[in-house]
This record gives sequence, structure tokens and C-alpha cells, in this order.
Amino acid sequence: MGSLLFSYTRAHFKKVNPRLIYSRTHLFFMHKNVQCLSTREGNKPPGVYKKQGIKQKDYLGKERQARPKSVFDAGTASRTAEFQKRKMGDDPHEDGRKVSAKGGDIPSHPLTVTEWKNLKENFKIPQRFEVRMMEKMLVANTDIDVAKSLLAFVAMETGTLSYELLLRYLTVCVHGSHHTEVFDMYDIMKNRFKTLDMGAYSLFVKGFSRTERWQECLLLLETIKKVITPSARNYADAINGAVQHGDTATGWRLYDEMMEKGVNPRQDIWQLLFNSGSDLSSESKLHSILFYMRENQIYPDEALARSIKAWFESLPGNQWKGSWATINARGVCQSCKAGLESIQLSEDEYRQLRDSVMRDVIEGPDVFNKTTPEELETFKRFVKRKPPFDVVIDGLNVANSSTQGNQSETLLAVVSQLVQDGLRVLVLGRKHMLRPSRSWDRGNMSLIQKKADCFFTENISEDDPFLLYAALHSGNHCKFVSRDLMRDHKACLPNSSTRRLFFKWQRGHQMVLPNFLSLRRIVFQQIPSYDTIIQTDDNCWHIPYDPQWVERCTYEVPKTWLCLTRNK
Ligand code: ZN
Repeated sequence: MGSLLFSYTRAHFKKVNPRLIYSRTHLFFMHKNVQCLSTREGNKPPGVYKKQGIKQKDYLGKERQARPKSVFDAGTASRTAEFQKRKMGDDPHEDGRKVSAKGGDIPSHPLTVTEWKNLKENFKIPQRFEVRMMEKMLVANTDIDVAKSLLAFVAMETGTLSYELLLRYLTVCVHGSHHTEVFDMYDIMKNRFKTLDMGAYSLFVKGFSRTERWQECLLLLETIKKVITPSARNYADAINGAVQHGDTATGWRLYDEMMEKGVNPRQDIWQLLFNSGSDLSSESKLHSILFYMRENQIYPDEALARSIKAWFESLPGNQWKGSWATINARGVCQSCKAGLESIQLSEDEYRQLRDSVMRDVIEGPDVFNKTTPEELETFKRFVKRKPPFDVVIDGLNVANSSTQGNQSETLLAVVSQLVQDGLRVLVLGRKHMLRPSRSWDRGNMSLIQKKADCFFTENISEDDPFLLYAALHSGNHCKFVSRDLMRDHKACLPNSSTRRLFFKWQRGHQMVLPNFLSLRRIVFQQIPSYDTIIQTDDNCWHIPYDPQWVERCTYEVPKTWLCLTRNK
């Protein structure tokens, strides 16, 4: 990867006092005297030519998607935790790839060229000394003058400053909110390079958004848009700039644009917008955010929930009162005593969901990535021959859910419990489970086949289509046991209302084993009678949220609610 280099005339540096080089004025002066060298790849940094939607390597070499993952993909809980850590300044990806600061070799004050030279000679891997040192400074939040003195040393020693090193320096400037230095770097880099990579533009958007020059973020976004769709983070930074400087209308314009472009919003953007005004002018827009979260089964984190509560309570006329609530087993809010929406699908809803899954998932184009047409046909004939099932078990998934005993023992214990409860059970498994081994005891497997109907697919097949087909074919009463979320199928479902029904069906039909499963007594987690989703009527909102620091598994739903009621 050819990096674009600055070339400095050594003669120039010989005339100046190295101690002055790290001053702001001089760094700015340096750029006016540099000569730009083209590389074999032309006068553009890596990534500039990449088209929209294609994976690009960012300035730190880390591959990333042009579009971020949705907040409601599998893994939301762990990302929620990540988001919370990030807010505490502990995000390993924030503004670049951080490295361990161990070693204690970052200077505590600016060094002279000679001092840097000595330090470099003692560095284990001198080849990338400057870049690594700059990365360490980012982690350690080192004084910016130390970073400047490093740049001055490199310029003196090599006559060049690589694009890579300048970007890392820019990251240090942005991360430390050194606004003047960010402005300087913008002038320097814009003058030296025809175009910058998207990483640099993103850093400038963030850097400018916090200053009186926040409106330049809009121009930077336009530049980014010529190459890729700006990321949710870009929009978050720009919206933050607008909102923090009192231009809420621009904040909303950017939000609308982001939604039109199909960029999935982040929770911090919503929080910014809820924080942006305590009047009714944004009411319908803020409500539409809540409806978006409902349609997409997104649960706000605690910080956003607090902002939502504060916004409602700040509305003129003291109309709304918010409280943190729990819901009892019968689905009644313990704060306002209102009943929540039932988890049960109506007959119409169930029919709509079943027809869509059968048409778009089971008969859909992606299904044969997971099985073969012959195997699926055999399975359909098998299911049609049997009376409806009460429970369908993802055998491999259940077998791996306990650390006690071997896999076949766990599966047998779960099957036995369900059969003992009078339920008709289908176990989906893979053919390898029938080959006796330490994990798959012949006796246990034969007992399972006596107690339940079993269907063993080819080892490479995946269980989801089989599980969905058998469960939906059996009727609305049929539940399933699996820890998997079957999120893949979301993309196959044609519209948001069917997707919502799918997840509602899942929440109401998924039997979940406890995290610490005792084989002596199998007790499933209770399926709530109410739906855990944002819901409203004219006089109240009920919003399930994730409390800070509580990690929720993806197959679980929040237990904590924000209850908002209108004063009567
Ligand atoms: Zn309530």
C-alpha cells in the first residue's frame, strides 16, 4: 500500500531551531514549504476510489463496512454494553486502533530531536517507531506538545511525514479536543492532498462539530457522500454539532437525510434529539423515533430512556409524569396499573405470519443454503404424516446448553421433562448424533427416539428452516426450544409489520432454559403473558429499556420499563 508522503527539504530544517518546530505556527509554516510526492497509486490515499457499499480499509488498516450494522441485529446486548463502555471512554475502537500503553516509554514532555533519536534507538522495533509512538500517545492521552515534538523529529530525521503518521496525529488532536490543531491539520492536509481518505474526513467532521466552525461539517459530509454513504457516526457527529449550537432544524434535516439513505441510527443520535428541545415543535418527530423503535424491536438503553423521560416531563403544562416501573406476571404496570399488550398473536396475525414464513423463508431463495430440496421435501412429508407437535426442540442447541453430563444426557433430560408434562415433542438433530461417541451415548439417543419424534438432517444442514416449518405447521400453540434467535430470517420477511409479528411470535413461543441448567430438575424460564415492546395509547407510553451495566442475552428481553402517563 503506497502511502503518500510529504517531502521536506532538509535544507529548510537546518535553518530552524528544532525546539521551535513543534510550535503551532511552525507546523503550519512547514506545510507551505513541503513538496508533494506522487506514489505509484496516484495522488490519493487508500480508500478514496472505493465505491459505496464496498468494504473499505480505513486509515488504520481495519476493514469496516460502509454501512453499520443495525442496532437490532443479533448481538445487540453485547453492543449495548460496548456502547456503554465507549461512553466511559473505554472503547478500543474509538478514533482508531488503540495499543497497549504498557512499557512506560512515552515522554512526559516535548523532546528535542536528539532526545527522540536516543529514544528511537532503544525502541524494540525501530521501523515503525513514530507510528507506534503516536498510537501510544492516543491511548495515554499524552500532552499534544509531545506529539508535535515527535512530528518535528520525524520531519528533521527523514525529511518526510507519512500520511499515516499525520492521520494518527490528527486522531490525537481530535481525541483530545485540540480544536486549534484540528483546524491547522485541516488547512495543512487540504493544501497538500487533492483528496483525503474517509477516515480523515470522519475525524474532521468530529473535530469541527465541537467548534464554532461546526457548519463546515455539512460540507465535509457532502464530500464523504461523493464516495460513500456517511456512517451513522458521521451523522451523529454532525447532528451533535448542529444541536449543541442551537440549530435543531439542521439536526433534524440531517436525521431525515440519514433515514432516507437507510443508515441505521444509533441510540446516541436519538438521545441528542430528545435532549435538543423541550417544546412541542419536535413532538411528532420524536414520537416517530419511538414508533421506529417499536417497529424494529429496539430497546433504548438507560441513558436514552432518561432523555425520553426528561423530554416528556419538560413539555409545557406539566402534562406528563414518568416513572421507572416493573410489570407483573399478568402484564399490569406496577406504576400506573395499565395492562400491556398481550404476547398472543390473534388468529389473523398468526395466519399472516405463517403464510409469509412459508412463502418467503421456507420456499424462499435462501433456504437451500441451509438444506437441499430433497431433504426439505422429505421433512415436509414427515411433518405432514404426524399429528401437530406441542414443542419443537433444536436438539444440538439444547444438548450444548449444560455443562453437566454429556450432550445426549442433557437432551434426554429436557425431552423427558417435556414428555412428562404431557407434551408432544419433535427433536431436530443432525445425523452425526446417531453415531455413538462420548458425547452421544447410544442408550440415551435411543431413549430420546422412543419418547419423541425425531428428524436427523445431514450434518451440514441448519435447523432453522426445519424448526420454523414444523412449529408453524403445528399451529399457534406450538412452542420451540432453542437459544438461537433465527435473526437471519428477518431479511427474508417482506415488510416491517411481518418482521414485528415474527419477533412477537418468537418472544411468545420460545422456551428458554436457564443459564445454569440442572439436569435433575428442568425448569424453563417463564414466557411473559405481555409483549415486551414499546407501546402507547393516547394517555400513556410504556417503554422497555436496558439498565446500564446489565448484560442481556439476545434471547432475553428487558425487565425494566419507563412508564409515562399523561396527567388527567
Ligand atoms: Zn405504567
